[in-house]
Amino acid sequence: MIKCKEFLKELTDYLDGTISVSVREELEEHLHWCHECHVVMNTTKKTIEIYRDNQIFELPEPLRNKLHDAIISKCKHSKSGKTRSSS
Ligand SMILES: [Zn+2]
Repeated sequence: MIKCKEFLKELTDYLDGTISVSVREELEEHLHWCHECHVVMNTTKKTIEIYRDNQIFELPEPLRNKLHDAIISKCKHSKSGKTRSSS
């Protein structure tokens, strides 16, 4: 089972349809139980569609990082209770 981090790594390829079937299945399974990634996926999808209209295919780096940070921090929150070291 993949983690959010791995999901995010494959997300743009998933939306582009450039990944293998087995990876896609894993990502789709992740979406079944991870609401956060589902939201991120929808947001990214919409963003990509907007950029496609402007004939820009790649997500801009700042947005990519922003999405990544958002998901990682959310995942940390949802798994709180274990370690609480200051970043
Ligand atoms: Zn996730």
